[in-house]
Amino acid sequence: MAAVAFQSVSKVYPDGTLAVSHLTLDVGDGELVVLVGPSGCGKTTALRMVAGLEDVTSGELRIGERVVNRVPSKDRDIAMVFQSYALYPHLTVFENMAFGLRLRRVRVARWRSGCARPLGPRPRGAPHGRKPRALSGGQRQRVAWDARDGSDPAAFLMDEPLSNLDAKLRVQVRSEISRLQAELGVTTIYVTHDQVEAMTMGDRVAVMRRGELQQVAPPQELYDHPVNLFVGGFIGSPAMNLLQGVVARGEQGLELDLGVERLAVPAEVLERRPALAGNVGREVVVGIRPEDVEDAAVVAAARPGATLRGRLALREALGSEIVAHVVADLRPAQADAVRELAEDAGAAEADPTLVARLSPRSRAAEGADVELVVDTCALHFFDPETGLAIET
Ligand code: ATP
Repeated sequence: MAAVAFQSVSKVYPDGTLAVSHLTLDVGDGELVVLVGPSGCGKTTALRMVAGLEDVTSGELRIGERVVNRVPSKDRDIAMVFQSYALYPHLTVFENMAFGLRLRRVRVARWRSGCARPLGPRPRGAPHGRKPRALSGGQRQRVAWDARDGSDPAAFLMDEPLSNLDAKLRVQVRSEISRLQAELGVTTIYVTHDQVEAMTMGDRVAVMRRGELQQVAPPQELYDHPVNLFVGGFIGSPAMNLLQGVVARGEQGLELDLGVERLAVPAEVLERRPALAGNVGREVVVGIRPEDVEDAAVVAAARPGATLRGRLALREALGSEIVAHVVADLRPAQADAVRELAEDAGAAEADPTLVARLSPRSRAAEGADVELVVDTCALHFFDPETGLAIET
């Protein structure tokens, strides 16, 4: 097992597409790092460079102590479990194993010889001709272990391994991969576009956008302290609300002018982000996580200047919470990153509704007016031009 290090690695395809730009990222020995980002952000290309399936255009790629830029794929000692752990329900176990290993000819050859005499005990009642649905969780895991070929690779690479699974199996296999990875302590780079997968599996999560690394951090840190608008909007489901506002000086201190509505900025927020004071009179993007908005009717006492009014357009009662879509007099953020996020979500433009995760005790009815309380201590602020968080 070994660390994997990208040092200012770029990839330009022959047609001129810059797929990965100056990627610097250290994946520690035994660590699981998830590469996440919207379609086309370069995560698969980054992974394929580690695998040796794509040349590195510039920069240095190391596996352990060795610079591998010119080392052929078969000599990199990488277990390319591209989609092999995911046991596609429509394939037999044999096909699943062969599918995952097809890219690595040496290992496929070895595995074939091992097929007659399987590596490790073959699960009883789990013939390779059987489909994964017929296998128990433990047996599925064994199959995946077999697919690993029994040897100790320097690193595991996984590219969207769960994408074809139904929701239930996805959760199950996700936790199996996490557990197995932790048990084996094998360095793993895991590519997904699914931020829930990224959050639940990664020791650290690396968010990419347009070939560039945006932020790499443990999941909670990424969630609590996104370095920019893109990361703030991409990580979290439902997504962070991103509104356009102007920082204003009010009677009680700083305020956010959101158009018709105003929110007071608590003193403690200003203490944490003194740079806000330097933004008086300027436009900022205000980020509000859906869970930081509540129905005023179920809140005992709200801070002054922490309420917004709107009309409940859609009420999705999930039992544990109500996801509310509220039409309010607010301006959606105008920034490149926001437009890109909207596009990625399949929307033509930034959504003007405010999404809130309300308590199931809320009686707010669809079509009715609702008063909302915002946890103004949990607001996020971004510069609309650079997209950077206004943090300190
Ligand atoms: P997805 O989730 O859709 O697989 P991704 O984040 O993995 O996306 P890549 O597949 O790495 O992104 O692609 C990054 C960029 O490089 C995209 O613009 C893509 O169109 C382009 N690209 C990928 N492969 C090639 C290729 N062989 N030739 C030219 N451009 C390519």
